Amino acid sequence: MKSHKLLMIPGPIEFDPAVLAAMSVPTSAHADPTFIQTFGEALEKLRIVFQSPSGQPFVVAASGTFAMDVAVANLVEPGDRVLLLNIGYFSQRFGEILECYGAKVTQIQAEIGSRPDPQQVEDELKKGGYKALFFSHVDTSTGVLNDVPTLARLARQYGALCVVDGVCSIAAEELRMDEWGVDVAVTASQKAIGVPPGLALWMVSPQALEVRRKRKTGVPNYYGDWLRWLPVMQAHEARRFDYFATPAINLIGALNVSLSQIVAEGMENRYARHRKLSRAFKAAMQALELDQIPRSEEIAAHTLTAVRYPKGIQATEFLPRVAQEGVVISGGLLPAIKHEYFRVGHMGVIGLSDLIGTISAIEHSLYSLGYRFALGSGVAAAQRAYRDGELL
Ligand code: PMP
Repeated sequence: MKSHKLLMIPGPIEFDPAVLAAMSVPTSAHADPTFIQTFGEALEKLRIVFQSPSGQPFVVAASGTFAMDVAVANLVEPGDRVLLLNIGYFSQRFGEILECYGAKVTQIQAEIGSRPDPQQVEDELKKGGYKALFFSHVDTSTGVLNDVPTLARLARQYGALCVVDGVCSIAAEELRMDEWGVDVAVTASQKAIGVPPGLALWMVSPQALEVRRKRKTGVPNYYGDWLRWLPVMQAHEARRFDYFATPAINLIGALNVSLSQIVAEGMENRYARHRKLSRAFKAAMQALELDQIPRSEEIAAHTLTAVRYPKGIQATEFLPRVAQEGVVISGGLLPAIKHEYFRVGHMGVIGLSDLIGTISAIEHSLYSLGYRFALGSGVAAAQRAYRDGELL
């Protein structure tokens, strides 16, 4: 048995050895020209990953929640009206942050496993007066994928900024920020970006930066004011030193390695590979006659799969059993159904063999807890779907 269990949760994920090795070098000064070069290169590659040549990238030592927090802190002034699409736990979190900064929040609450209909969103935006539309690209608690291009188009049409929580999507799900008209997209290092936890990353459109500049009130958040970080990001892209707060030097070194791998793979190939892995995993769950939380394949994320337990299987028995087989997966997260489902992440550097190993551990665990099916049928279905994906 390997000492390291395969980490198949929806973040943090498995990291490439070259990325991990980049973290274990002696820490340089933040004014060291080599580090300035590394940081500058990483920022340039983020424009490719977010597909936003016109945007301004930011990389700050924090987690994804911080990137969400400061998107709100910079764009929203007390009393501003915003529209929030709620498809799960992390959309709910966006709502709490918005309340925290004094926004007047209207929510469109989707039923569990579904997403708001674009017509519903349009009907609401049509009423006018919305400064911004907030939503998750993928809500990690339900595995539901939002339709970003349609939502971004509606936001633009009705004069609202479009702010996307892409923590569980960016660098794996298709996102064309400039082309689709997304104003702010936020993520964190530990998911499809492929770097251990500790970096918040986000991209801001020129329009959103202008909204920040034109605020009547100050940003009630010192560390998170975009305009304190902006000169630092600009300086590094111009290969100059500037300081606001000490950067996470080793993590940024690792980020540059991971982004190089992502850019070398190519964004289109990367989206396609994640779709293929996702289809294979979902085919396996179907073959085992397990239902998924998203109500249709069309609205299901490709970065994770959220699966209902069959009758009689308990999380408290199942998850440790899977871990015994060397694979770590997650339980449920959405409070209303927390104990009814489990989640498997399939992003980043993993491949077919990791997926098959995970399905095999799931099959074995279900079977040993009394659920009956033809052993190997999940694995076979995944193999077939993966092969079909290759022929597409
Ligand atoms: N949004 C989504 C969609 C997430 O999946 C997560 C983390 N699971 C977050 C926000 C919060 O990110 P973090 O835990 O890095 O603060």
